Amino acid sequence: MSGINELSQEIRRLKKEKNALILAHYYVPLEVQDLADSVCDSFAMAKLAAGAAEDLIVICGVRFMGESAKILSPEKTVLLPADNAGCPMADMVTPQDVLKLKADHPEAAVMCYVNSSAAVKAVSDVCCTSSSALRIARALPQKEVIFVPDRHLGSFVAKNVPEKTFYIHSGYCPAHDSVTREDVLAAKASHPGALFAVHPECGDQVLDLADFIGSTAEILDFAEKTQAQELIIGTESEIVRRLSRDMAEKRFYEVKPRFDCGDMKKVTLESLFTCLDLEQYKVELPQEQLTAARASLDRMVNM
Ligand code: SF4
Repeated sequence: MSGINELSQEIRRLKKEKNALILAHYYVPLEVQDLADSVCDSFAMAKLAAGAAEDLIVICGVRFMGESAKILSPEKTVLLPADNAGCPMADMVTPQDVLKLKADHPEAAVMCYVNSSAAVKAVSDVCCTSSSALRIARALPQKEVIFVPDRHLGSFVAKNVPEKTFYIHSGYCPAHDSVTREDVLAAKASHPGALFAVHPECGDQVLDLADFIGSTAEILDFAEKTQAQELIIGTESEIVRRLSRDMAEKRFYEVKPRFDCGDMKKVTLESLFTCLDLEQYKVELPQEQLTAARASLDRMVNM
């Protein structure tokens, strides 16, 4: 099979034949997003999967996203198109690291960003997304909080919740961490009329220059609602492509060239086709891990 159109048609045919639900993250290539029933961030994918009538769920994203969907829908078949699409930040923290931090700070609650493995969620007290992190940190009854794995989101939360003590793990997203203050200043100099909207996975010095800080979904919403006609986007490059296509009346600029998540780009039309055709790669998790990780996600929802 060769052309994009032919491949897309075959994917649609298989999706219908197998009654599959396809969910895509905002950072996978646009042509994959276009075949999805819904495009959203990782926790929204997991929630949609759980509420859907379909029993076959394809998560176009990286491994922890497939795991989150499986945690909320253990009875469903959850597939990942690219078995080798991981998240370097999620891989930076292990359950043993969390247990060590817990032993060092026994009074602290463990708050884990949803960009983490099921095994890490299973040893955490509560999960958070980038949009719920501040709310969850404030609502926790504990005065001390261990935050894993993202040091940038962790210090953003710590700065905004000064009444608590934070112990922050040293993980980071290599894509978001690579943005420098100089990148932002150069983009601002090239586009002096543009607002700068950025994801909290970027570093402090970058966030200090922002007009808006929010999750990917919040950045998309901000881009739509702001009166500004030009925006510099401080998150993965697919967002700039998506905004430029969907809001042609406004101008969107990358904060730096090649702001790509290499793992998200492993999800291609070819891998999506093979995934549906061969029903691979199935996400499987041990029951004990599923139950414990589910408790962390449920606590987030309840808070
Ligand atoms: S963009 Fe960063 S946090 Fe998101 S999947 Fe890629 S490496 Fe992980």
